[in-house]
Amino acid sequence: MKQCPKCKYTRKSSDDKFTPLTECPSCGVIYAKYERFLEQQREQQKAKQKDAEDTEKTTQQKASIPFKKKYTKRLMCVIAAFGVIIIFYIVGTSQNNKSYAPQAPKHSYSSSTSKPSSSYSASKHSYSSSASKPSSSYSANPYSSSGAAEKVVSILNISYGNVCHAELTGIFSKTLKIDWTRNTVKLHAIKVLAEIGSVKKGLYKDGVRYFQFPNNAGTYNVIDWKTGQKKSTSERAKYYFSD
Ligand SMILES: [Zn+2]
Repeated sequence: MKQCPKCKYTRKSSDDKFTPLTECPSCGVIYAKYERFLEQQREQQKAKQKDAEDTEKTTQQKASIPFKKKYTKRLMCVIAAFGVIIIFYIVGTSQNNKSYAPQAPKHSYSSSTSKPSSSYSASKHSYSSSASKPSSSYSANPYSSSGAAEKVVSILNISYGNVCHAELTGIFSKTLKIDWTRNTVKLHAIKVLAEIGSVKKGLYKDGVRYFQFPNNAGTYNVIDWKTGQKKSTSERAKYYFSD
């Protein structure tokens, strides 16, 4: 026998006399209507459940996506920071190079105006000597062109003027002649001779064949840079070291 889907009343055959077959005798509900209603409810429930599942999925996805996004964002930030650091480093070093380059001549200009110290090397004064002789067409490199000998002499006299006097003599072959002063001590002499030795090749290239300097006998030694021969002159040197 039929049972009511709403109130669960089980229909008896005696009920058929008073209530239609489609209606519940206990609660009065129309079976078909109520069943349709229940069916609708079930469908709605299903839809709701599906929605809930969907939202759960999307929330899970949403939760995972921001995590990934956050991670990549941080990674990008780190990469960007590194990039910026590298750019700053490159710009910094290039600016340093730029700013150092013009400082070098400035430094030697100022040193040329002040009293030249004997501790400066000849190469440091390559700019200052050209500044003191602006009319000359000497290049910065004393070895690269003719006039190197004059330039070296000028540098020696500027750098070591207090302890050394240098000059170029001779008619056919140039001779670099060095004289000491009353202020010269042996260390100065060694330093000046070493300085000349370091630019010997450039001097020789420029036509300086002989190097003349005071010897310990009070005259001069003359070294022929072409043959390596050494001889002494009868000319007396005013200052010399007699050890
Ligand atoms: Zn009923």
